[in-house]
Amino acid sequence: MLAVMSILSAASQVQGPAIQVQGLEKSYKELRVLRGVDFEVAWGSIFALLGSNGAGKTTVVKILSTLLKADAGTARVNGFDVAAQAAGVRESISLTGQFAAIDEILSGRENLVLVARLRHLKDPGVIADDLLRRFSLTGAGTRRAATYSGGMRRRLDIAMSLIGNPPVIFLDEPTAGLDPEARIEVWQAVRELAGGGTTVLLTTQYLDEAEQLADRIAILHHGRIIVNGTLAELRQLLPPARVEYVEKQPSLEDVFLAVVGDAVEDDKDGGPDSSSQDRKTKSSRK
Ligand code: ADP
Repeated sequence: MLAVMSILSAASQVQGPAIQVQGLEKSYKELRVLRGVDFEVAWGSIFALLGSNGAGKTTVVKILSTLLKADAGTARVNGFDVAAQAAGVRESISLTGQFAAIDEILSGRENLVLVARLRHLKDPGVIADDLLRRFSLTGAGTRRAATYSGGMRRRLDIAMSLIGNPPVIFLDEPTAGLDPEARIEVWQAVRELAGGGTTVLLTTQYLDEAEQLADRIAILHHGRIIVNGTLAELRQLLPPARVEYVEKQPSLEDVFLAVVGDAVEDDKDGGPDSSSQDRKTKSSRK
């Protein structure tokens, strides 16, 4: 079912980049937040918009998702102009913010079925079960969402945003406020999205998040994109590292995950084995 929907949505995609932003400006009264923002996001890629708190990341996402009008500049999403073709943009996207849009009284599965019904899709139960499986929530599917951990909620929220298969997803600070273990769970969910062909624009103020997830990283600073490239390209901006002998100490995050990981209940299908796998993958990257 979802595979068929992928093909349908891929067919509706247009030539050119998934997102194209040129000369975007926005002020809140005297506060000039965006002063000419330009970037493009390729289809099926993960693009991280990185910036400090208050840099204007959410403002960009709000303009791209038609919630806010820019003062100047143009932006196209899935080929639709955000100002002139807002309905086309809204049909092409899903927006997941920091505060999950989950009904806590319902189970995870019921939340998914509800959204599928609201979108008038066929076989809501099949769609829900497929998403629960993809986001490692099958075991918790019938439990009330109120009992979910922060990471499980965020994963359920991302799964809900995939219903209807929008080609472009905006994730505004997807791991803000989550503990390290939950962040890794959400990162896996984001990789899962991109692996399925969805174009992801995520905002973050965490450098390691951009490093872990993004195909391209753009740094928003003082209202403009000051750097935009792959991680390798960004690294080349600095002089090559000198080779020195250093004794590698585990980071606090390594210690936290090693100690806490074993004590965490098996509250997800992936279970403790999958989180220890995460640790192996993460530490092997270092
Ligand atoms: P970020 O997402 O990077 O943290 P935001 O886009 O939320 O940044 O905000 C950029 C700046 O604009 C901040 O200084 C914020 O306080 C200000 N701002 C955001 N929304 C409004 C608003 N509706 N009215 C006035 N100022 C705002």
